[in-house]
Amino acid sequence: MTSFADLGLSAPVLQALKDVGYEAPSPIQEQGIPPLLEGRDIIGQAQTGSGKTAAFGIPIIEYVDPQIDGAQALVLTPTRELCIQVTQAIRTYGAPKGVDVVAVFGGAPIRTQQAQLRAGGHVVVGTVGRVLDLIQRASLILHDCRFVVLDEADEMLDLGFLEDVERILSITPSGRQTALFSATMPPPIRKLADRYLYDPVTVKVESKNLTVDTVEQFQVEVAAKDKNEQLYEVLEAERPTQAIVFARTKIRCDQLYRTLRDKGMNVRALHGDLSQGQRDGVMLAFKSGRVPILVATDVAARGLDISTVTHVINFDVPPSPDVYVHRIGRTGRVGRAGRAITFVETRQKRELEAIEKHIGTAITPWSPGAKTIPAKIEEKPKRHEKPHVTRPPEIEETWAKLVVGAGRADGIEPADLVHAITAAAGLDGEAIRDVRVLERFSFVSVPEAEAPRVIEQVSGERVNGATLDLQPVA
Ligand code: AMP
Repeated sequence: MTSFADLGLSAPVLQALKDVGYEAPSPIQEQGIPPLLEGRDIIGQAQTGSGKTAAFGIPIIEYVDPQIDGAQALVLTPTRELCIQVTQAIRTYGAPKGVDVVAVFGGAPIRTQQAQLRAGGHVVVGTVGRVLDLIQRASLILHDCRFVVLDEADEMLDLGFLEDVERILSITPSGRQTALFSATMPPPIRKLADRYLYDPVTVKVESKNLTVDTVEQFQVEVAAKDKNEQLYEVLEAERPTQAIVFARTKIRCDQLYRTLRDKGMNVRALHGDLSQGQRDGVMLAFKSGRVPILVATDVAARGLDISTVTHVINFDVPPSPDVYVHRIGRTGRVGRAGRAITFVETRQKRELEAIEKHIGTAITPWSPGAKTIPAKIEEKPKRHEKPHVTRPPEIEETWAKLVVGAGRADGIEPADLVHAITAAAGLDGEAIRDVRVLERFSFVSVPEAEAPRVIEQVSGERVNGATLDLQPVA
């Protein structure tokens, strides 16, 4: 078995890995670290949970010279949650060497981030919109940035960021080293790689290594009116060390939080209506283990990685099989067993069946103390396929363009709009296209059939203090 020392890492980095308790490299690290240390560009096909952050984070630390000020490496992330998480990881790996890692993301004061950049910032981890903003204000100078990582590139595509990513890449030195990580490789990502990566090595971790296989999965059939009580019962019976309860909307998330709190449970809520400071506080409380139960919307919990999570509870059936896999990937990490429990209303049974087909396993009914009896479904589909529950691919979709009465001047970033629409109207990321944020307005396209509902459910939502008002583009 390969050890971290076999990969030729330096003493301070080996020390950091020892401090953080990693014993041996994960497959993506074993395959990805050597070419990156040789200076090659790489395409990494790996998901959250594979250890991909260290796969690019460790070579970054090896590469950076802490004696030289200024950004030597840039990591672009699609969301601020991932940005914070990646920053924390890279800080850990770089601590013994004295590498300064700065996080820059929207929804937080830009002045503080500008000051942090001026103070050093060997490695900058940022969301696409904020990075571009800081470049335009000449607060982030990338002349000496020789290492660029695109993390979760397919998410960036979904959120409508690819054009901005290209703008950033074209500003960085042409001799830079580039690593692109993406769970899937849709054509636009492939194109981006062809254009901006030089002779890349592809490293791929099959999704069967995904933690999903180590998660015991259950379903609970429950009437809508009984769900709150059922949730309480499940939590009482399971006694999770740490659980994330996923709710479809912010309002639902908040209601659940209140219900559980009023029953005396130690619980917090994480959703898009909280200020960035409040969200960071909640994340920290949960990550440190002080709070055992977190009620969250998907968007808020995106990329949230907590290796101690023992339970994932889907209070509503997830909007797509991919979201299901992504959510339950939060548990059962690195050799730990996890349990995922999904609440199903009668009208949602077909959606659950689509999930069972996707993962190739029947989901066992839950009862207190239940164990899974894995029952394979006849034909096991490849997990990278993306079956559409609501929109079969053979139906050619027509798109409706909507105008939103808020823009950059109101502190809106493309991700905020996508988040607001996914959270309030329950659309998945693929059903949101062509997001354009201008100074005072924004545009977004959604499937025509969904447009009236999106307009109704998203209008009135507040994002970073601005109220969204959606109208069809005549
Ligand atoms: P990632 O896929 O980068 O989000 O990492 C998933 C989780 O695995 C994080 O909690 C990491 O701290 C952890 N991790 C990463 N590499 C290793 C390793 N070699 N050994 C044990 N845990 C790891």
